[in-house]
Amino acid sequence: MMNGKWMRKLRDVSLCVVGLLLWSTQTAPAQHWLHPDSAGRTNQSIFRALEDWPAPNDLRTGSGAPGARYWQQKVDYRIRTELDTVAHRVSGTERITYHNNSPDALDYLWIQLDQNVRSLEHSRAYQMRAALPEEIDPRARRWLGVDLFDGGHEIARVQVADASGRLADAAYRINGTLMKVALPAPVLAGTSTELEIDWSFNVPDWGRGGKEEVSDGWIYELAQWFPRLSVYDDVNGWQTDQFLGRGEFYLEFGDYDVRITVPSNHIVEATGLLQNPEEVLTAAQRERLARAYLSETPVYIVAPDEVMTAGSRPRQNGMLTWHFKAENVRDFAWASSKTFVWDAAGFQYRPDQPPIAAHSLYPRDAMPLWNDISTAAVIQTLKTYGRMAFEYPYPKASNVNGPAGGMEYPMLAFCGARPQRKVEGGYSDALKYALIGVTIHEVGHNWFPMIVNSDERKWTWMDEGLNTFLQHYAEVELDPEFPSWRGSPQSIVDYMRDPDQVPIMTHSDLIHKDFGNNGYAKPAAGLTMLREAVLGPEVFDDAFSGYAQRWAFKKPQPSDFFRSMDEGSGEDLAWMWRGWFYTTHANDQRIADVSRQDTEELLGSTERGRYYYRIRLQNDGGLVTPVQMDISFENGETERIDLPVDVWRANEKEFVFGLFTDDELTRVVVDPDGWYADIDRDDNEWVAPAT
Ligand SMILES: [Zn+2]
Repeated sequence: MMNGKWMRKLRDVSLCVVGLLLWSTQTAPAQHWLHPDSAGRTNQSIFRALEDWPAPNDLRTGSGAPGARYWQQKVDYRIRTELDTVAHRVSGTERITYHNNSPDALDYLWIQLDQNVRSLEHSRAYQMRAALPEEIDPRARRWLGVDLFDGGHEIARVQVADASGRLADAAYRINGTLMKVALPAPVLAGTSTELEIDWSFNVPDWGRGGKEEVSDGWIYELAQWFPRLSVYDDVNGWQTDQFLGRGEFYLEFGDYDVRITVPSNHIVEATGLLQNPEEVLTAAQRERLARAYLSETPVYIVAPDEVMTAGSRPRQNGMLTWHFKAENVRDFAWASSKTFVWDAAGFQYRPDQPPIAAHSLYPRDAMPLWNDISTAAVIQTLKTYGRMAFEYPYPKASNVNGPAGGMEYPMLAFCGARPQRKVEGGYSDALKYALIGVTIHEVGHNWFPMIVNSDERKWTWMDEGLNTFLQHYAEVELDPEFPSWRGSPQSIVDYMRDPDQVPIMTHSDLIHKDFGNNGYAKPAAGLTMLREAVLGPEVFDDAFSGYAQRWAFKKPQPSDFFRSMDEGSGEDLAWMWRGWFYTTHANDQRIADVSRQDTEELLGSTERGRYYYRIRLQNDGGLVTPVQMDISFENGETERIDLPVDVWRANEKEFVFGLFTDDELTRVVVDPDGWYADIDRDDNEWVAPAT
């Protein structure tokens, strides 16, 4: 709300801004850029267009949208896999259909063998480990490399089909986590080729997938578990960056048909829809599932007291094969255990659509907690992300508790939070919020990068940052008391002060420290600043959802995001992208001084107010941001002033703001609520001297 007096003040302010801009350009010092080049002969304004962006073309346009000739490969998989719960091994055979939609003939294929990150023979991550520290925490033995574990992909067969469909052994060469497969004849543009691979590996105890023994037995989570095609795109050609354990995954979309054979007492959850419920579920379970989808209130499919009972399985011995199909997904993961409690519910964006199934599977050790929280948090993610990006396009979203602390796959999340200490009511608030947070985060990854398919191996922020940004909104919508610890500009200040950072725009494997702040918190804080302070929710959401929708089921690059946000919001945000994403500069504005002149003396009348104030702002940091000030008057009122970032265009170091008023100023505070993450707040306040 604004009163009449304030409207008048604001009008005066806007006139003064124009006047002072003219004044300041006339009197500005010769060098008014924060980061001038040494000779001072090139344009080094923070506002200039980014020279790092590739030239637009008809694949990726200047507007940030996919171009008319945009293409991407498609890779379909037919997989049969079996879990050996005695040897803790997974083996499988897969038939891959590689559709070459590129304009190029390909002589060979690159395949990712991500389990080789734990291969004694092939792992570069093992070789990169530094010498042991002088004291070793027992929990760190494994990742320090004290205990050797050989978990690489053992490749038993690689065959490629010729033109007549006959399979013949293919020459292949393994290089770390990659395998190059020679083709007998090039796969031409617009054609496809088929190949088959047999493999096996030992399931590790830790990592993104792994095994864990809980009170009732083992839980297996299988991820990065089968040989997957590397991406071939217009930016990289073949993306052949090694998997070193941190930079995540970049994959092609495709259709999956997967048969998973496990002991008959196991329950399996996976990417995709179960094709043979009548073979692997009891009649009662099938009936409960049908009922569960009708409401958002979870229904037990396997109740806690049914775990490992004869009645909970259709067969008592031998093996059972679970058959799943998934369309248009970039990956496939699964989990298997005899220990699972299972609850499910349904969610609809509109009553006329089939319900999206929400599932949670967890051992009894995860109760109480998972039975209260998990499925509700899955559904909240579908709601909030559905509104702020696009509606969830897949038929189900599941969450599984097991060894992985938090990891994401299409339709399937692995989350580790589990009650350890018994407290009143079963679990602490901290634990409740931990599970809500990790569930929303991992389910939220369905949007970024499972559907908006960015190159995670290179750019952590494109999925983690965007996802962490949206996560906050889902958390507080589920629980207004949620103590969000990441994603606000106020919470990133300590990191912004650290002189030993690297820019967000740094390859994932080159971020030397503070990975969470660099890849998650800082990009999320920047987006929150843009939404809440710079652009406003309406303008921001329009641009952000526009980006998400134009790149859904496609592969955006960083410049596609930046350009989409510029075009969608109608703002040139080069200052923001350069300052926040490409550099490690911080915002440090300061009130240098405040002076007062009688308006009678200045204008010959007091028509516009008795006093004219000049508030001299200096920019000591390396960033430019809009200016927010709270100005307090003698009459006790405080008014908030918002100035656009443009005040720094002519002079990035100093801006003098002018204000007519009838009341004397008592106090001025710049960045009063911390929306611009000012790193030195001691000089942000001016208080009128006592008279
Ligand atoms: Zn994440």
